Amino acid sequence: MSKALVLAESRDGNLRNVSFEAIAAANLVADEVVVALIGQNVAADASQLAARGAHQVLVVEDERLQHYTPDGYGQVFMQLIERVAPDVIVFGHTSLGKDLSPKIAAKLQAGLISDVTSIEGTGTEASFIRPIYSGKAFEKVKVSEGKILFTVRPNNIEPLAEGASEGTVESVTVELKDLRTIVSEVVRKATGGVDLSEAKVIVAGGRGVKSADGFAPLQELADLLGGAVGASRGACDADYCDYALQIGQTGKVVTPDLYIACGISGAIQHLAGMSNAKVIVAINKDPEANIFSVADYGIVGDLFDVVPLLTAEFKKMLVH
Ligand SMILES: Cc1cc2nc3c(=O)[nH]c(=O)nc-3n(C[C@H](O)[C@H](O)[C@H](O)COP(=O)(O)OP(=O)(O)OC[C@H]3O[C@@H](n4cnc5c(N)ncnc54)[C@H](O)[C@@H]3O)c2cc1C
Repeated sequence: MSKALVLAESRDGNLRNVSFEAIAAANLVADEVVVALIGQNVAADASQLAARGAHQVLVVEDERLQHYTPDGYGQVFMQLIERVAPDVIVFGHTSLGKDLSPKIAAKLQAGLISDVTSIEGTGTEASFIRPIYSGKAFEKVKVSEGKILFTVRPNNIEPLAEGASEGTVESVTVELKDLRTIVSEVVRKATGGVDLSEAKVIVAGGRGVKSADGFAPLQELADLLGGAVGASRGACDADYCDYALQIGQTGKVVTPDLYIACGISGAIQHLAGMSNAKVIVAINKDPEANIFSVADYGIVGDLFDVVPLLTAEFKKMLVH
């Protein structure tokens, strides 16, 4: 019977959705799924994991683990690996997962399949699909021997519904030795709102928004649709918004259900971060703009006319 160990993530007191997606992915590959929940004051969230695909949740709480450090989380996770002896190890493809997973893979002298967007087959026959060359192609990877380690890209694998499992929750004490770093506080530039990498709807602005104030109609539309605002590097470079919003090859890679690109030309580096969105709407004054080559719906027009019209129409639909 094969076992998986999944690292769940809690951020600002909420479990990240990618944790449930990682558990669903682990269930495709292994018979038994154990979930590690690490942090401070996180135990209350364990029952959600136990009901959505985890057969067992191991909770490790320590004030020194309130915020992620590779040293602290690495020590804890390695001890949990020793305890669980998993055949499969799964992380979210988040900043934390992208940082920790290669370190764990190196310690275990195992390979790592990073940024998995789907899984074909089950158990030892499973193949992992991941984008390569900035999303221009996909490769299918199969592991012939040894432990399987992979990270899952947010918003791609359907999480299991509540009631999918009735797992147990156990509090575990681990030894933390000679921690070189403890993060006591994290101050975020952008606070509140929907997390860009997990947003189902993204309204993104490019240099075409022309100023920081130009983002206001985009924010209104995003708020109405329960989504987040993103940006091209052009907009970030022009100081219209913070780099935390940048989407693309050197920014965030996103896979929302709906991506509305406003005043973005569609440079290849931008497409690398959003071309796998399920539905893409492009608004641009230039009918020749490259963004239209990936768009499902294209609107040629001035974004300052089109975006308020869309907002007004969505408002009517949402009221009725
Ligand atoms: C190594 C490297 C990495 C990079 N990484 C990234 C990355 O991660 N993400 C990224 O986005 N870019 C990245 N870039 C930059 C990328 O090449 C482009 O320069 C950038 O994406 C352009 O941003 P933009 O589309 O907002 O601006 P522009 O290319 O200037 O396009 C602005 C668009 O707005 C339209 N427009 C203007 N006014 C209006 C209006 N009122 N209404 C409607 N449309 C209007 C114009 O027709 C135009 O198409 C990278 C570049 C390099 C070299």
